[in-house]
Amino acid sequence: MRTPGAVTIKRASEIDSMRGAGRILAGILDVLHAELRPGTTTGALDEIAERMIRDAGAVPSFKGYGSNPPFPGSICASINDEVVHGIPSPRRRLAEGDVVSIDIGCILDGWHADCARTWIIGSAPREVIELVDATRRGMEAGIAAARAGNRLGDVGHAIETVAHEHGYGIVRPFVGHGIGRSMHEDPQVPNYGAPGTGLRIEAGMCFAIEPMFNLGGDDVFVADDNWTVRTSDGGLSAHFENTIAVTEDGPEILTER
Ligand code: MG
Repeated sequence: MRTPGAVTIKRASEIDSMRGAGRILAGILDVLHAELRPGTTTGALDEIAERMIRDAGAVPSFKGYGSNPPFPGSICASINDEVVHGIPSPRRRLAEGDVVSIDIGCILDGWHADCARTWIIGSAPREVIELVDATRRGMEAGIAAARAGNRLGDVGHAIETVAHEHGYGIVRPFVGHGIGRSMHEDPQVPNYGAPGTGLRIEAGMCFAIEPMFNLGGDDVFVADDNWTVRTSDGGLSAHFENTIAVTEDGPEILTER
């Protein structure tokens, strides 16, 4: 591992470890997706996720994270106007038409992976389906721009361009990040930016790229539980995230099967 400034460059063997963590998460998300239906509680999803992480020999990275209070779950489950960091609960039941974002992270042999998906429970209006689809495409555009020789501003600009095509709000206080031995490493990876600006991307850098788009304005606030982030105007929000490694051949997604 080499450290230019504060941004670490991972060796191939280290990226292998992160790929192992990422594959665990991708498999769990497939299982959680199959559990999504009206009546399922986010607490039940959290129990499944924690058991599967531990059965795979990994550790949930979200559980106990932070303070005031430590995050209690192994997943974040954020529904409708909740953007990110929703606390899973056995009292929180999914309903037809809900937009649910599941964020999950784990540590395998000391290496982190972090990813999120948004799904709709049953059917929803076309504008809601388009929000979810565009947020996924925003993530994909950001990943495609994460190439050696590009700059971080190119990544943010690619993401922002997709949001602007649809007039969606972009969540600015919460951003993507470097990832590796720690869940959150330098640099921050904003979901907006100017092309050709910021850190020059090098092979061996690993990032969590994670746009959050709102069907409404940009503004968000943290709810009374000190974790759940919600849109200020009550608009629906979607969130996608993958952990990627920049290779000489382009970006490699580590959180897919
Ligand atoms: Mg993240």
